[in-house]
Amino acid sequence: MWYEGGSQTGSATSHSVMLIEIDLQCPYCNEVFPLMVDTSQGDHTTTEDCTVCCRPIQIEVNCEPGEVIDVNVARG
Ligand SMILES: [Zn+2]
Repeated sequence: MWYEGGSQTGSATSHSVMLIEIDLQCPYCNEVFPLMVDTSQGDHTTTEDCTVCCRPIQIEVNCEPGEVIDVNVARG
């Protein structure tokens, strides 16, 4: 991997494709809300606060760069 110092904003075109919006259902209050997933990381687990009840949701993301395959949510 090679990064040019400080020029991150210049190459935003290919990076933005990796961000995909998914619908997430809160395991606490069952509200559905959108979340942006960075698929360039590959499979990963992250924690986000529910936008409705503000409780932490553990999110398991199954993805390939540019495509979300599966998403699992659990109480964090
Ligand atoms: Zn909630």
